[in-house]
Amino acid sequence: MATDVCNHVKVVVRVRPINSKEKGDDLRKVVHVVDGRMLIFDPKENHISSFGIPKVQKRKVRVVNKDLKFVFDNVFGEDSTQEEIFENTTKGVLDGFMIGFNCTVFAYGATGAGKTHTMLGSPDEPGVMYRTMKELYKRMEDDKEEKVFEVACSYLEVYNEQIRDLMTNVGPLAVWEDDSRKVVVRGLSLHQPKSADDILKALDHGNRNRSQHPTEMNATSSRSHAVFQIYLKQQDKNAGLNPNVCVAKMSLIDLAGSERASASNARGARLWEGSNINRSLLALGNVINVLADPKSKKGHIPYRASKLTRLLKDSLGGNCRTVMIANISPSSKMYDDTHNTLKYADRAKQI
Ligand code: ADP
Ligand code: MG
Repeated sequence: MATDVCNHVKVVVRVRPINSKEKGDDLRKVVHVVDGRMLIFDPKENHISSFGIPKVQKRKVRVVNKDLKFVFDNVFGEDSTQEEIFENTTKGVLDGFMIGFNCTVFAYGATGAGKTHTMLGSPDEPGVMYRTMKELYKRMEDDKEEKVFEVACSYLEVYNEQIRDLMTNVGPLAVWEDDSRKVVVRGLSLHQPKSADDILKALDHGNRNRSQHPTEMNATSSRSHAVFQIYLKQQDKNAGLNPNVCVAKMSLIDLAGSERASASNARGARLWEGSNINRSLLALGNVINVLADPKSKKGHIPYRASKLTRLLKDSLGGNCRTVMIANISPSSKMYDDTHNTLKYADRAKQI
C-alpha cells in the first residue's frame, strides 16, 4: 500500500457566518481569513473590519492581540457553500474509498460552530453526508459495466460512552473487533437506500433520535457524536472464478461540541455527560497526537481509551484517508473555543 495515503490527514477550517447574537458593542471579529489557506486568529486591529461601524478602541481585558497565523490545507470563509466544502474535502477521499481504503471525515468544533450544518445540513442545503452518497451513486453508475457493487449504511451515536443505533433507536450496542480485526457493532442495523433522496430521509429520521439536551449555552447543544457509515463492497464482473472482492468503509462524523463542560456552567448530570464526551474527544485527540508524532513507533495507539476511538480503530491511521473539518465562529464571543479548535486542528495537520 502506498504510504503517502496512510499518514496524512487533510485538515480544513470552515468559518461560519456571524449571527445576530454575536453582534454587539463589546463583540468583534477575531478571525481574519487571509486566503484559501491561511487565517489569522485575533489579528491586530488594522487587519479587521468590525461590523461596519468604525469606532474608538474599547479595550477591556485583552491588551495585546494574539495575532496568530494558521495555515491549513484549506480555509473556507463565511460565504463558503456546502458544495465548495464537499468538493474540497470528502470528494477527494472518495477516490481512495473506491479503491478500498477506509475513510473518515469528521467535523470538529464547539457547540454552535457549524458542525451539523456542515455534515448534515438542511433539505435546502444538504451537507457532506448527503453529497457523499450522491457522488458515490454516480461513481457506481459510471463503473457498472465492470463491477458489481453492494452498498449499505448505518447511523449511530456515541453518547455517554454508549453506542445507540439512530436508525432504529436501539441501544446500548457493543463494539468489538472480529477475527480479521474489523470493527463490528453488534446489532447495528444496515440500510440499503434506493436513492440519494432516500438517504436524506434516513439521515433526518436518525437525527431526530439524537440525544439532545438544552444547556445554558445553546438550546440545541448536542453532546453526542453522530457517526454515519457507508460500506462498499465491489467485485470485478469479468474476473471469472477468482473475482477481486474489495470492501471499504467510510465514516462521516458529526462530533459532539468540543467546549469544556464548565464553559456552559453545566452541573450534575450534564457535567457528567460532559466529562464522558471529553473522554471520546480527548481519546480522539490522543490518537491523533500519536499518529501525528513522527517519533512515535505507532505500536501503542490508544484506540481502546473510548468508544469513539474503538469504533474508528480501523478507520484512522494505517491505510486510511482522513479529513478533519474544524468549524469555528468568527466572533469574539467564542474566543477560547475558537482558539482551542485551531490548536487542535493545527496538531492534526502534522499527520
Ligand atoms: P453545531 O452542530 O456545531 O453545534 P450548527 O451546525 O447547529 O452547530 O450551527 C449553529 C447554527 O448556525 C445553526 O443555526 C446553523 O444553521 C447555523 N450555521 C452554521 N454554519 C453555517 C453556515 N456555514 N452558513 C449558514 N449558517 C450556518
Ligand atoms: Mg450539532
